[in-house]
Amino acid sequence: MEEFIIDNGQHLLIRAKLIYLGCGSPLFNGALEINSGRIERIGPFHELKSQSAGAQLIDLEDLIVLPTLTNTHLHLELSPLKLRIPTASKFIYWVRSVIKKKAQLSPLEIHESAKWTLRELWFEGIGLIGEVTNSALTLDLLANSPFCGYIFQEVISFRGSHPLRHLQDISSRFKVTYSAHAPYSVSPLLLQAIKAYNNKRKNLFAIHCAESLEEVEFLKTGKGPLKDLLIERGQWQEDFKPPMVSPLRYLHDLGLLDEKTLLVHVIHLEEEDFELVTRTKVNLCLCPRSNLYTGVGLPNLPKLLQTGVTIALGTDSLASNDRLSIFEEMKTFKLFYPDVSPLTLLEMATANGAKILGFKDKGIIKEGLRPDFLAVETKESKSDNLENTLEEFILGEKKVKIRFYAEN
Ligand SMILES: [Zn+2]
Repeated sequence: MEEFIIDNGQHLLIRAKLIYLGCGSPLFNGALEINSGRIERIGPFHELKSQSAGAQLIDLEDLIVLPTLTNTHLHLELSPLKLRIPTASKFIYWVRSVIKKKAQLSPLEIHESAKWTLRELWFEGIGLIGEVTNSALTLDLLANSPFCGYIFQEVISFRGSHPLRHLQDISSRFKVTYSAHAPYSVSPLLLQAIKAYNNKRKNLFAIHCAESLEEVEFLKTGKGPLKDLLIERGQWQEDFKPPMVSPLRYLHDLGLLDEKTLLVHVIHLEEEDFELVTRTKVNLCLCPRSNLYTGVGLPNLPKLLQTGVTIALGTDSLASNDRLSIFEEMKTFKLFYPDVSPLTLLEMATANGAKILGFKDKGIIKEGLRPDFLAVETKESKSDNLENTLEEFILGEKKVKIRFYAEN
């Protein structure tokens, strides 16, 4: 991958076969005019060519231009577990495997592996991340990285309390806050305390939700393999009364669902849950390749799209994925749900994640913004019309050829 750093003195006209802006219809045979470190104009190449005298032409030929991608949910700390956790037929097998193998990792191993994973994210065309951490081992790497986004300090505690101290910023490019692991691993009072902490600071409250059938069983009956796990780990709370409702309904009844909440996974939803999603306008992040890996099934994407809420994509960690590629997440959804339009998937991969994480200038290509985009090669791309080019782009083998960004 080549890096093209645009300095303020350059006046460029960049042409490509297709330019996707992060929303709306892409431009076929489009162009971007860049001047003084900003995107000055966006339009059809034949129009901009005649109007941008003096600009240096960069013809990207058959490459496809799109904003840098957003990986809305990942855990860098689990990177050393890549290919060390078997794919699972049941979620509980995967959870037990991760707990066992994670306990064997040294801080150095975690740090070095996360360092390489950040490089991988860069080459995958990702610019904005929603990183979940249980330790502080990767903070120095993030503070010195070119990425921006959220760092969620994840709380896991079903029994007893957990201090929610004020968290220090690590750089101007990252927001830092607390998140909750899941409805079965954080006590109801603590879930509400974490939400209150975030509300007070106007931060996003993130939580894994409705990921597995084991989670549904735990909340509906107070029994099952997740209860056994809590007992083994000394985390079972004797006076916990199962709410006897779905995970989503449970979080709603605790007052946790609104426009500043991000639910990750949302696979096992009941009919009423879809209505709750619409009504509360909660944000969603889907990680289909992780879901296939951990044996939990896939979220009902077509039905979730009908709710009208903002839906983004994440990879989860290398303990449940072999790549942290948002391109691969889009492709997986397209293979399982061929009727979902490529533009919907592209929006989930770019602008939607940025909107949820609260970075309005990221995940889009727009006049007035600083350039931050990718030129991507698709090997199988042969079509000369918009619709087929987009289909080929989502399903084909892709490689980021050039990463364009402005100098600081
Ligand atoms: Zn996760």
